[in-house]
Amino acid sequence: MHELSIAHNIVSIASAAAAEAGAEEISSVHVRIGALSGVVADALRFSFAIAAEGTPLANAELVIEETPVVVFCAQCNEEMMLPNPRLFRCPRCNQPCGQIVSGRELEIVALETP
Ligand SMILES: [Zn+2]
Repeated sequence: MHELSIAHNIVSIASAAAAEAGAEEISSVHVRIGALSGVVADALRFSFAIAAEGTPLANAELVIEETPVVVFCAQCNEEMMLPNPRLFRCPRCNQPCGQIVSGRELEIVALETP
């Protein structure tokens, strides 16, 4: 399962950060996942609960921010948010846009301690 290995990664990164900060426990982890990252939020939440067992994140809440796909349209010379992440066309001029500005990210944005 793809999400489980991602969850293990999040837990190990967050645990290392907690150790570095001298924190024994983490109360919440904020992550950002793009619409193109291929990560399913519910599956990640489920996997996180498993991966966090027995770590400083055992009681941590996983807060997921899902970000949309943004492309750059050369025709409009503007960044556009795609309403449908499977259709790479500019929502304004309908030109094909392959220049992805964001939507692939998968990152930890913040950690909170009690
Ligand atoms: Zn356009």
